[in-house]
Amino acid sequence: MSEQYDLDTLAVRAGTVRSQFNEHSEAMFLTSSFVFSSAAEAAARFTGEQPGPIYARFTNPTVSMMEDRLAALEGAERCVAFASGMAAILATVMGLMKAGDHLVASRSIFGSTVQLFNNILGRFGIETTYVSPTDPSEWHTAVKPNTKLFFVESPSNPLTEVSDIRALSEIAHASGAWLAVDNCFCSPALQKPLVFGADIVIHSATKYLDGQGRVLGGAVLGSKALMEGVYTFLRTAGPTLSAFNAWVILKGMETLFIRMEAHSKNAMALALWLESQPAVARVWYPGLPSHPQHELAMKQQSTGGGIVAFELKGGKDAAWKLIDSTKMLSITANLGDTKTTITHPATTTHSRMTSEQRTTAGISDGLVRIAVGLESIVDIKADLQRGIA
Ligand SMILES: *Cc1c(COP(=O)(O)O)cnc(C)c1O
Repeated sequence: MSEQYDLDTLAVRAGTVRSQFNEHSEAMFLTSSFVFSSAAEAAARFTGEQPGPIYARFTNPTVSMMEDRLAALEGAERCVAFASGMAAILATVMGLMKAGDHLVASRSIFGSTVQLFNNILGRFGIETTYVSPTDPSEWHTAVKPNTKLFFVESPSNPLTEVSDIRALSEIAHASGAWLAVDNCFCSPALQKPLVFGADIVIHSATKYLDGQGRVLGGAVLGSKALMEGVYTFLRTAGPTLSAFNAWVILKGMETLFIRMEAHSKNAMALALWLESQPAVARVWYPGLPSHPQHELAMKQQSTGGGIVAFELKGGKDAAWKLIDSTKMLSITANLGDTKTTITHPATTTHSRMTSEQRTTAGISDGLVRIAVGLESIVDIKADLQRGIA
């Protein structure tokens, strides 16, 4: 579908390819391989002279539809889908870097991403330097002659720190490096990193793209040239998205825009309410004027998104008490679901960091993260009211 359509329309219709049966909803192709009409056609498919599916580790029509829809939303030339967000991050590094290369990453990134960079890629000779997500000069200082990739999440988890994507892309490009943005918290409905100069966009489709907590999935997007290496890794190593999960995510994307609008509206209302609570020391939400990067956030994002973090004055005890007092909210580390989730980062998602690392990252023991869902804001507030009072 051409880019002249609005993004909301592309979310519903881009990428759809109909089979000979002209089905209205996209078909799910549950097949591991594809048949060729002749030996010559088989040969042409394998050399790449003739486009088309070969084997489901490489491509599957349902997966391709999901990739094409997401590419249309991010404004990317190409999307490569993966079995999970972590597989997408691994593939980005494996596809674009080699032993001896250097990575500069934000200090405030997903916990498993830190483990991947430190404990796995570190063993294969890729070194990572961590810097502040909000201070571009630290990125500039961290650059070495062998720096290949910048990696950032904006807004970050759990503090919703906002990075200046344009500034980071300029520093990366001046250093001969690429900028990859994990766009999980915003999704293309709220933020399109490629517009601000990023080279690569990464998604955990497990979160808002599915949006209903059903399946795992991931994606890497960028230019055709950059995606070639990422696709080669997929094809060879096989962290492939299943047709079923691709179909679920394809359907999820059809409601992405209305969901993100509703998540954001609820989150803004909750953030304002939390700010007025005496037990709350501080609230982090990019939509609030009190957020340290509020102005930048409003330039890069169309809304503040669905994640709110706040610090309780009573520390860990107060945080656990609040979490345990809820009756409706789900106590789970997941996010991007229609159901509101509540997490204590210090003892769950960020528990593998040392307390010193947590302090540097600003993750205090009183910090609570809420991924605001689509229930009535009245009920969400009421569920928190008991514990906060
Ligand atoms: C969840 C998440 C990931 C990892 O995605 P999976 O699908 O769980 O592998 C990566 N980045 C961010 C920001 C996430 O929230």
